[in-house]
Amino acid sequence: MPRFRQTEEILKLMSNKDAIRNVGVVAHIDHGKTSMTDSLLVEAGLLSSRIAGSARVLDYLEEEQRRGITIKAANISLLHETSSGPYLINLVDTPGHVDFTGKVSRALRAIDGAVVVVDAVEEVMAQTETVIRQALEERVKPVLFINKMDRLTKEMKLNPQEIQSRLARIIAVFNQIVDNYAEPEFKNKWKVNPSLGSVVFGSALDKWGFSLEAADRKDLKFGDVTEAYDEGEFGKLAKQVPLHSAILDMITKHLPSPLESQKYRVPKIWTGNMNSRVGQAMLNCDDTGPTTMCITNAQNVPRTGLVVTGRLFSGSITEGDHICLLEENKYLIKQVSIYMGAFREAVHNISAGNIAALSDLTTARAGNTLVSCDYQIDMVPFEAVKYFAEPVMSISVEPKNPNDIPRLVQAMNRLSIEDPNLVTKIDPGTGQYVVGGMGELHLDVAINTLREYAEGVEITASTPMAAYRESIMKPGRTVVSNSPNKRNRLWIRVEPLKTVLEWINKAGYQPETEEKAASTLLGIQKGSLWDIDSNKNILVAKATEEQPLRETRASIISGFRWACKNGALCEEPLWGVRVDLVKMQLDNDPASRRPDEIMRAVSRGILGSYLTAEPALLEPIYRIELQVKTQWFGSCVTILTKRRGKIVSTEQRGVQTTITGCIPVAQTLGLSAEIRSATSGYAFWQLTFDRWSKIPDSQTEQTIKKLREKRGLPEKVPQPQMFAEET
Ligand code: GDP
Repeated sequence: MPRFRQTEEILKLMSNKDAIRNVGVVAHIDHGKTSMTDSLLVEAGLLSSRIAGSARVLDYLEEEQRRGITIKAANISLLHETSSGPYLINLVDTPGHVDFTGKVSRALRAIDGAVVVVDAVEEVMAQTETVIRQALEERVKPVLFINKMDRLTKEMKLNPQEIQSRLARIIAVFNQIVDNYAEPEFKNKWKVNPSLGSVVFGSALDKWGFSLEAADRKDLKFGDVTEAYDEGEFGKLAKQVPLHSAILDMITKHLPSPLESQKYRVPKIWTGNMNSRVGQAMLNCDDTGPTTMCITNAQNVPRTGLVVTGRLFSGSITEGDHICLLEENKYLIKQVSIYMGAFREAVHNISAGNIAALSDLTTARAGNTLVSCDYQIDMVPFEAVKYFAEPVMSISVEPKNPNDIPRLVQAMNRLSIEDPNLVTKIDPGTGQYVVGGMGELHLDVAINTLREYAEGVEITASTPMAAYRESIMKPGRTVVSNSPNKRNRLWIRVEPLKTVLEWINKAGYQPETEEKAASTLLGIQKGSLWDIDSNKNILVAKATEEQPLRETRASIISGFRWACKNGALCEEPLWGVRVDLVKMQLDNDPASRRPDEIMRAVSRGILGSYLTAEPALLEPIYRIELQVKTQWFGSCVTILTKRRGKIVSTEQRGVQTTITGCIPVAQTLGLSAEIRSATSGYAFWQLTFDRWSKIPDSQTEQTIKKLREKRGLPEKVPQPQMFAEET
């Protein structure tokens, strides 16, 4: 059962950095990550005596156990007593699916070691390799837990020799992956070695596990395991070699403390100056240096507000301190807490090397960096390249009872705070509540969470739809557009932004690089680039010395933004369009240049020229990487091509073949189920957003019609003259 502790004892432990381990559990789906983590929590989870006193605890644990604790908790702290004293182990949640890649890499920042769970029957799978590689890239040290050993005896009826040779093969493949991906200085140090105890063999289902070293000590052999199962007495294994002790022993002996790991990890995951005070404090995990923290999770908690959880790399945080969100606001820390098991317990102060929860930093998000306000200058963010995800698929949601709309909106807001890759909005065209995400699974999880947050509200959700964008294929004509009061005249021309877009795609999606790209590649002079919106549309106009122009600048930009949000084909957002304000005749009287007059003139001019520029509808395309046993290769290719997929390359390695290709997002609904059933579940694949691409001509008319209908627009696409006077 969980240990009941006084908070003071835990705080003392937290200041002894040698006794801290920040770790994650990673695995291929279904290999047993949840089962293993839950058995650790139930056996070694901490509880403060205050929480333990409340009657709810056991109910809570049972409920959470049923639902799988690891999905929700940002962190779980465990206590492990050893002969050399107690250890504090922080388990940071690392979501496994690629739709949540942003979260995976963030979680990896916060941990120093990872327990890799491998199913003894399925052995190392493609996703196992991916997670080990990701860990090694962040200098996170892996150890191995070979799970589901019971299946080797019960189902496969292997004898002890056969079991041993299978285990040897799993270990050899694991070490080969370390050899392939670890940096030279870690290659040999980080290979696992069963005789040293960096591999645990066991069953999360039956709650036993041991390392060879422990087995030696207890005089246990593989034959004894087989025998226990043969005799139906495997329950005694859980008593003799309990799983939680085996895993926690392995973690404390073979994974590094923050004091040890930050010396080599900080130079890898942080690009600032190592000789600065901030750099030195982080390298040395120094409590007395400037405070730095990498936020891995942000969650809205009822009655508390936004709680952010993260790893403190240096300094300390005390209730009442002021701290700065890098490049943003200054905050007063209202509450500092630590995790006791999966519960949060308020404490006054927390020091370097630990995982802390803070409230109430309203605008902080996962991936952000916190720093002592005096050291903002020295600090660079942990996540320098902003993780970017196009919300390429969306669903509309609706409460059955219209009175529940405020609660739905509240839940949607909470969702978008907790998962920065989700976009929630009201579609201006249809008035529908829309949730946009990275794919079918991502949205599936989002809807479940939404239903949980708006408990009691009956929510209906549409089937997912791929997102669209509108763009142009050639430069448009210069058109003249008058404001409704006819007192202002604007000459406007649009053209596609191809070169810049290619450049931006390569350089990542940071606003600074976009601005740089626009000026270096298009030769746009400083001051002439008036605006760039989130869909890479740019507004170019000459510099603003003239009085009327300077005053109307904001209205012109609003008109540009409005047009970019509502394309003329079917009110989908524009993408990659350059708008040039060629010439302007503005009325001298400010009253004639009211914002709505100017906005209308600008947006109508843009859409008028746009309609002369061969407008087209774009659809999102995923890149797909699929690994499958060669025997099912043919079926997978058939499935992909039937769904308009294109195969770019194939590579065979052992019995596995990897297919790389592209597939339109719109064609991926139900793809998982189809591949799974065609391959008996033995395929593994990842879909990532690749690009926007023109939809096939054969489908253009039909799709535009469908989208116009959905928004209640007239069937016919308008003519340029409907927007601009002279074209
Ligand atoms: P996760 O997807 O990695 O979190 O895996 P889960 O912990 O949810 O386990 C997936 C399935 O494998 C569940 O049905 C578990 O009951 C089962 N499972 C987990 N550990 C064992 C084990 O040691 N032996 C057997 N036979 N089944 C297990």
